[in-house]
Amino acid sequence: MNEQISFIVEIQNIDVELLKFEESLKKTFNEIEDSQNNLKLKELELEKLKEDLAEVNKKIGGSELDIKSYEDKIIKMKDTQKLIKTNKEYNAIQKSIKDNEALKKKSEDEQLEYMENKESISGKIALIKKETEELTGGLSAKNTEYKKNEKELGAVKKDFLDKREIVKKKIKKDYIDIYEAVKRNKGFPAIASVMKSGACTGCYRMLPPQQFNELISENVFMQCPVCSRILYIDTTLPEPAAPAGKVSKKLNKNKI
Ligand SMILES: [Zn+2]
Repeated sequence: MNEQISFIVEIQNIDVELLKFEESLKKTFNEIEDSQNNLKLKELELEKLKEDLAEVNKKIGGSELDIKSYEDKIIKMKDTQKLIKTNKEYNAIQKSIKDNEALKKKSEDEQLEYMENKESISGKIALIKKETEELTGGLSAKNTEYKKNEKELGAVKKDFLDKREIVKKKIKKDYIDIYEAVKRNKGFPAIASVMKSGACTGCYRMLPPQQFNELISENVFMQCPVCSRILYIDTTLPEPAAPAGKVSKKLNKNKI
């Protein structure tokens, strides 16, 4: 293979590895961020449940006072009833006692409902606290792991960049500029191998036979006329199946 082409392939291999490395870093960051967001949501939910619990406790306290007040009234009325002489007064107090007993029963029913509600809220609070603990634990483990590896990851990245710089210096400026531009516009591969059939593996279009022959036999820097990717012949790769296509534009080529 032409030396310049082999350097471009080499720099592309480094760039692909660097991209994979950065994506795995990003994944770790995203996981940490997701956990943090999730934790915040759980904390908000917990706050809301605590407010609900305080509210229901207040209602339970209120109904306790009501029940006590109805009980006191009933006792007092029963005492008064003993001293009453007329039927009319007796019946009136009897009615009041019944009314207060009905109110007391209503408050007791409400209290029962509040107690059930309290139990349900308490259960949810316990569950969220457990989930929050687990999330906090997981987050702390991820952060510790990340901190532990931070130095190492920095060194790995520096190693990639150092290697890249060495290779980059060996490549002609025009070629590296084209490589960078194609990479920016098309992504990987910016330098694409050409199959034995004569198809570019970047866009799977067929090269005109004459250009394909030049690529095989000469030291040429050539771009695909369809997708602009830099082309090279890679004899080490197995032949992938690809659809055949037409080529209309003229090939860009330069003698190296
Ligand atoms: Zn192409």
